[in-house]
Amino acid sequence: MIRQFVIDLMFSYNISIDNIYGHYEMQSGKLQKKTCPNIDMHWFRNEIRKEMGQTYGKSI
Ligand SMILES: [Zn+2]
Repeated sequence: MIRQFVIDLMFSYNISIDNIYGHYEMQSGKLQKKTCPNIDMHWFRNEIRKEMGQTYGKSI
């Protein structure tokens, strides 16, 4: 599940959810007209926040 993967990454590298970007949100991705990962990253970050709260009792 990609959510768990992202949460693992956040713990491993001590990064916050606000620093998780979709490729298309990056300047380099825009220049290359990338649309991946083809999900709404605002929605995705909210999902991660919810999951962190439920699973770890953490707010991020
Ligand atoms: Zn990409």
